[in-house]
Amino acid sequence: GSTIGILGGGQLGRMLSVAASRLGFRTHIFEPGAEPPAGHVADAVTTAPYEDDAALRAFASACDIVTFEFENVPTSALDLIEAQVPIRPGREALRISQDRLTEKEFLQGLGLNVAPYADIPDQAALDAAVASIGTPSILKTRRFGYDGKGQVRLRSAEAAGGTMSQMGGAPCVLEGFVDFSHEVSVIAARSVTGEVACFDPGENVHRDGILHTTTVPARLSASQRTDAVLMAARILNALDYVGVLGVELFVTPQGLIVNEIAPRVHNSGHWTQQGCSVDQFEQHIRAITGWPLGDGSRYADVVMENLIGDDMDRVPELAREKNTSLHLYGKASVKPGRKMGHVNRITR
Ligand code: ATP
Ligand code: MG
Ligand code: MG
Repeated sequence: GSTIGILGGGQLGRMLSVAASRLGFRTHIFEPGAEPPAGHVADAVTTAPYEDDAALRAFASACDIVTFEFENVPTSALDLIEAQVPIRPGREALRISQDRLTEKEFLQGLGLNVAPYADIPDQAALDAAVASIGTPSILKTRRFGYDGKGQVRLRSAEAAGGTMSQMGGAPCVLEGFVDFSHEVSVIAARSVTGEVACFDPGENVHRDGILHTTTVPARLSASQRTDAVLMAARILNALDYVGVLGVELFVTPQGLIVNEIAPRVHNSGHWTQQGCSVDQFEQHIRAITGWPLGDGSRYADVVMENLIGDDMDRVPELAREKNTSLHLYGKASVKPGRKMGHVNRITR
């Protein structure tokens, strides 16, 4: 079989490796950090920094196609890899989603609704934007944020004073606070031939900025469901995307607002492992290897719950629960806020 290279060796890389292996592919992980969770299940692992050109070249020459589970791969590393082997999804999706400002401009350009936002290079820009966008609002670093890191909520104009120094001088965007009733996400896929399929939208609840649960079906009307799927398809087509992409949405009385997109398999799509014949990981592998998309229709109601940090202490009880699938990532150590695993509970 041919070999799929995966940039990033976290839990997403691990579950992609398992899915690839089930379809008869080999996987090769490239990961700078020690003891990557994906390392235990992949066929090969390269442990090297993204600045190690020789290691990148050797990795690329061992692969027939390269994908990623991590968005912040340096451009120079992608250039080196792409000189030898195709990267799917393509570079454009990464470029756009790596930067919240570029991402917002792209989404707005597609005619999709986003929160009111402003480019914030410095404190003066923040003071001006707080005056126009108002409060409550959220200041986010343009790059590198995840699990709510690199974000400050501003309750009042006074609270904005000096906030840019808290961000370590990193360029930011200010977003008006969206008064949503709930949050949902669409996990969407597009094949090499342009076929598009979406999993049923999931309803997401966050705790301390980290995804806590995803519930399917989400509370959405038929027309909201249609809107969500059409929005995801518009994004996929605009990017000529190949693979799985996550779209996070706010539900408001005025319609759906796009929060952000992730050009990869997504934590809020983990329920598909127990809710569908073909889950998001297999769907991604199918898409990037030129297979037809699989049947991702939902045959069960599922609640996915993330196991974070000390939630690992509950594993002995969880292991006894009925209708519950346990997924553990084999991480070397438990840390507060670290995603250690998840459970999928079939509720109907
Ligand atoms: P992820 O781990 O999903 O990549 P992230 O660090 O990129 O998270 P966001 O998705 O931007 O962060 O924000 C995290 C959560 O904060 C959102 O899911 C939502 O609950 C809340 N939030 C973010 N932006 C807004 C906004 N403009 N209005 C209201 N709530 C918001
Ligand atoms: Mg994000
Ligand atoms: Mg998010």
